[in-house]
Amino acid sequence: MHGKPQVYFDNNATTRLSRRVEAWLKHDFADSYANPSSIHLLGQELGNEIENDRRYIADFVGVNSKNIFFTSGATEAINSILHPLFLQENGIETVLTSQLEHSAVDGCVERLRQHHIKVIYINNDADGLLCPEHLAAQVQSHPHALVTLLGANNETGVIQDVAQLTTICKTHDCLVHLDGAQMLGKLPVNLAAMNVDFASFSAHKIGGLKGIGFIYVHEPSQFTPLIVGGGQEKGLRAGTYNAAGIRSLRLALEDTRCWDLQKIKNMRDGFEDAVSNFKIKTQVNCQHPSRLCNTSNIYFPNLPAHAVVMELAMRGIYVSVGSACNGAEPSRVLMGLGFDRDYAASCLRFSFADFNRGAEVEYALEALHEVVDT
Ligand code: PLP
Repeated sequence: MHGKPQVYFDNNATTRLSRRVEAWLKHDFADSYANPSSIHLLGQELGNEIENDRRYIADFVGVNSKNIFFTSGATEAINSILHPLFLQENGIETVLTSQLEHSAVDGCVERLRQHHIKVIYINNDADGLLCPEHLAAQVQSHPHALVTLLGANNETGVIQDVAQLTTICKTHDCLVHLDGAQMLGKLPVNLAAMNVDFASFSAHKIGGLKGIGFIYVHEPSQFTPLIVGGGQEKGLRAGTYNAAGIRSLRLALEDTRCWDLQKIKNMRDGFEDAVSNFKIKTQVNCQHPSRLCNTSNIYFPNLPAHAVVMELAMRGIYVSVGSACNGAEPSRVLMGLGFDRDYAASCLRFSFADFNRGAEVEYALEALHEVVDT
């Protein structure tokens, strides 16, 4: 590599703007200043573009555009569903979840508990796959519960069989919410086939702008708006349209179609092989076949992970200790997998993207070897 290195392997936290998004911001962003709800021509044109984008996005996830509502991101979408008011209006008294959720879900669940909603954790195996038998037993004891599933884990990359789990939930009239924030672009997503009731997504995980995402709602009449005010989004999410964000989401989705997932997987697998040849006895966590092609979570014995993150950053390499929302704390998710606090405090997450190159992997391996293996 030439010049000052800048190696970004923290793509599950957020990723670089996609090419189409960057080009659009440079050349066309300034023209889309009107309010899409205004009845004059400029507003209506922008409103029509938003509806076109909505159709593209809906098609991408295999559903009808009337079931897609824009939000400020996955956190807001998740908050809309895992909200005391929503549960109350739908007569839901129990929420089934896991110990392995993103903090957007975990924080909501904590609040639900304070509102006297019963919270049950579904057991998981050592890789983080939910136990179907335990889920079946719990939905039988708690019919009409809300079940929230994490499609692909942001820290370990492990992918749940959402369709199989949803089938179990539906035998007892449960509603299913899918946190799909890490799935877009990396996995085929067909919400209709998965038969979920709600799903939450975010643009900045795939090269769109931060502060935009969407929620899929199978039965909009069941939905209780989190944000009220104006009549945008058919009254289900008030607030002036984030027109630039929506555009970026659509363009970023288009760009994901060019991602070379096999190349990303080869890069990740090559990285893991090389790290496993270090003198110190590293361990790849959750190296399950059903794992996102870009994610690697690795234990480095007796090394404080946050210090390694800083050392690597000084060399221009950006990785994380787990979820960005967790800060420097040992990962709650890894502890939910049964690892102790010390083990979790020595794990790093590397998350690759289509724009990463083999030379960057080589450079990072050299630096990592220098920091942890000499
Ligand atoms: N769920 C998962 C699995 C995530 O990885 C993230 C990203 O941090 C979120 C939810 C929250 O998404 P957003 O940043 O759009 O609020």
